[in-house]
Amino acid sequence: MTWHKGQTRPMPWKGVKDPYLIWLSEIILQQTRVEQGMPYFMAFSKKYPKVEDLAHAPEDDVMKLWQGLGYYSRARNLHFTAKYITNELNGVFPDNFEKLLNLKGVGEYTAAAIASFAYEEPVAVVDGNVYRVLSRYFGIKTPIDSLKGKKEFKSLANQLIDRKQPDKYNQAIMDFGATWCTPKLPRCENCIMQDTCYAYKKEALDTLPVKEKKLKKRKRYFNFLVIQNEEKTYLEKRTNKDIWQNLYQFPLIETKTEVEYENLKSEEDWTDIFNKFNPKLLSKSKVYKQVLTHQNIDAVFWTIELKQTKLSGRKFLSTNAKDINSYAFPKIIDCFIKDNPIYLSHEQN
Ligand code: SF4
Repeated sequence: MTWHKGQTRPMPWKGVKDPYLIWLSEIILQQTRVEQGMPYFMAFSKKYPKVEDLAHAPEDDVMKLWQGLGYYSRARNLHFTAKYITNELNGVFPDNFEKLLNLKGVGEYTAAAIASFAYEEPVAVVDGNVYRVLSRYFGIKTPIDSLKGKKEFKSLANQLIDRKQPDKYNQAIMDFGATWCTPKLPRCENCIMQDTCYAYKKEALDTLPVKEKKLKKRKRYFNFLVIQNEEKTYLEKRTNKDIWQNLYQFPLIETKTEVEYENLKSEEDWTDIFNKFNPKLLSKSKVYKQVLTHQNIDAVFWTIELKQTKLSGRKFLSTNAKDINSYAFPKIIDCFIKDNPIYLSHEQN
């Protein structure tokens, strides 16, 4: 906290006492850098200044505003919880750590942040920054992603918290981790804790904190069919329990490897359409890549001309190509559309 007094890291949600705005900022900042999250916070707090405003918004609007931020389950939970607070709790935000934990999408970290910042309840936030600072400073080698590690760090963090100023304490340690005791280049040479810091004295900066598991990534191959049917194209909503749930996409054929156009024709859902209507291939895009936490996606967009106006089988939505921007897409599709405005509107040609 002494260190924090000399620091300024202004953010629009700092010092705010409204639990709704704190919750909004914390959900946006999960798995997102501050610089990236800031414009989203501004947009959401402007469009939905109160929890009721968010609750009454159509889901497609919420997803559209969230577009580009990734980890879309956060947006769905945000909307669900806003409706729950508005309808079931008469718009009154839960006012302590335990009650906050009952909200969908609110884990211990977010509950601690809201409880300490809005209500000054002395519960410590334990995020990636806090794990790093504590493990380095105290020389704790218990893996931070193990159950034992989680308990140990949580207990230590709750012993350390300033019970009279928990909000200031939590903000200080988070900022310290984010700007000073950073993962790659911590500023040890000018650090006020240098004399008592285990990692600095033992030259253990690179080995702390310890992680147990290495993430195994799944590789996926997405083939999107950008269908040109005069002024129209087709979209579908991702409703399965998978990434990008409730976002829209061009009709998708997922394959086990990279494929050629000929191979697509024999894909189960599509044999009928390809055999009956023999669509003409107009172009194949470059490979668009997106790296997610657990998967790497390679996407190819196949633009085809199809004269048929009614597609049976999966639920496809026929839409005017120029209206496409009103739908919320995953980032990879958004990038393709931006690269190829030709698919958006014939008028834009
Ligand atoms: S001395 Fe280095 S490792 Fe230790 S707390 Fe300071 S910045 Fe972090």
